[in-house]
Amino acid sequence: MVQADVVVVGGSAAGIVAGISSRRRHPDKKVVLVRKEEQVLVPCGIPYIFGTVGSPDKDLIPDAVLSNNGIELVKDEGVSIDRAKKSVSLKSGESIGYDKLVLATGSLPMRLPIPGSDKENVFVVSKDADYLGGVQEQMRDAKDIVVIGGGFIGVEFADECKKGTGANVSIVEILPHCLQLALDSEFCVEAETVLTERGVRLLTGRRIEAILGDDKVTGVKLSDGEVIPADVVMMGVGAVPNVELARNAGLEIGSTKAIAVDNYMRTLTDPSIFACGDCAEKRSFFTGRLSPIMLASVATAEARIVGANLFNTCCGNPGEIGVWSTIVGEKAFACAGLTEMAAKHEGIDVVVGEASSVDRHPGGMPGAAPTKVKLVFCKKSGLLLGGGISGGRGVGELVNVISACVLHRMTAHEVSLFQMGTHPALTASPIVYQLVNAAELAVAKL
Ligand SMILES: Cc1cc2nc3c(=O)[nH]c(=O)nc-3n(C[C@H](O)[C@H](O)[C@H](O)COP(=O)(O)OP(=O)(O)OC[C@H]3O[C@@H](n4cnc5c(N)ncnc54)[C@H](O)[C@@H]3O)c2cc1C
Repeated sequence: MVQADVVVVGGSAAGIVAGISSRRRHPDKKVVLVRKEEQVLVPCGIPYIFGTVGSPDKDLIPDAVLSNNGIELVKDEGVSIDRAKKSVSLKSGESIGYDKLVLATGSLPMRLPIPGSDKENVFVVSKDADYLGGVQEQMRDAKDIVVIGGGFIGVEFADECKKGTGANVSIVEILPHCLQLALDSEFCVEAETVLTERGVRLLTGRRIEAILGDDKVTGVKLSDGEVIPADVVMMGVGAVPNVELARNAGLEIGSTKAIAVDNYMRTLTDPSIFACGDCAEKRSFFTGRLSPIMLASVATAEARIVGANLFNTCCGNPGEIGVWSTIVGEKAFACAGLTEMAAKHEGIDVVVGEASSVDRHPGGMPGAAPTKVKLVFCKKSGLLLGGGISGGRGVGELVNVISACVLHRMTAHEVSLFQMGTHPALTASPIVYQLVNAAELAVAKL
């Protein structure tokens, strides 16, 4: 039996980062990573396989990220854990002993339990390169593609399918707007306008009742009775934590169906076993309540906490802030923390500050894009709760600044005095810098 100090099971975002952090924090330790795939996809890049990058083999994480960090890779599947012997058995029959074990087994896509969901050409968002290669084959000749779910994954899929195939592409979303769980409605409407301009048909406020066809899908029936043709259906309706290995080892599974962990990412059942990423339980930074969120940003932050805590407990998990971004055509959307709607739903009295301007100065500089920032503050304390943005490509980094301000519990007053670096070709003017102006306008209302 091979013996390692740290064994990581799972080789995607959480597993890779847990391995790297383990080596960085404890350079003398032997770290072995077990993953079942020959090659691992960039999970967030999956929608782009169908348009921008063109194939699964252009969406891979290079294994050099492991070897460059001194992590030993074992391509195999962990099938059971012997907690008494502290070893993991592999499908090949081998086993690996550990001092500390990290479970980063991720999540599996959900398939809606509706009539016809098992028909041919009804797909889920799997993180498997061969499976996605097969989906791409079927899309090649498709005339009508229906995406179920208008969250950011569904929206990205629809936009990329429209770009990469000649097909008619529709999104069916049960809520009144696409992206509604992640953005305030004014941003959702903006995103929907861009999607519609790009030729994606939006069927919001409606549910899929059934998937039609004999063996192969031919259409979908909506809750208002409308039937729309489909030769490919993609379900982008969420994922469930992949916890079979943990459950079979007797580790506690929490009410969100993820592995129960403490504040240091140790499993509640066994202090030698840690869990991080989509398979691990999460708590909201704001409420402390359990949260079903699944994001690579959260997964990798948790993985770093694991690496830090393996051999000396030091770093607590502040909870998930929920920071993400997406782009439709050339228009980017992002949010960190609570939207205005989510804050009100929590019973928080809020003050909102909004500021818009182009993200270059003067506005005639190449690449300038109108950018809107909306910040949400607690009326009583003035604390920043979150922010939404729409604009150009700079949005992807600006939202990370908002996330840092939320994490460090900055108030409207403090954000309004934030010193930003600016440059005509790179940012908004310091006079109209959206983040600072939105905060200053909110201060006036507090
Ligand atoms: C289409 C799509 C787009 C997304 N876009 C974004 C985005 O833009 N931004 C963002 O923050 N998040 C995004 N996400 C979410 C993000 O991808 C996930 O939160 C992230 O992948 C979680 O990483 P993970 O390592 O915990 O799990 P996973 O990515 O699910 O990886 C788990 C890995 O472990 C392997 N494994 C499982 N069991 C075993 C076993 N027993 N033995 C060996 N190996 C095993 C699996 O095969 C898999 O490779 C997106 C997700 C999808 C599906």
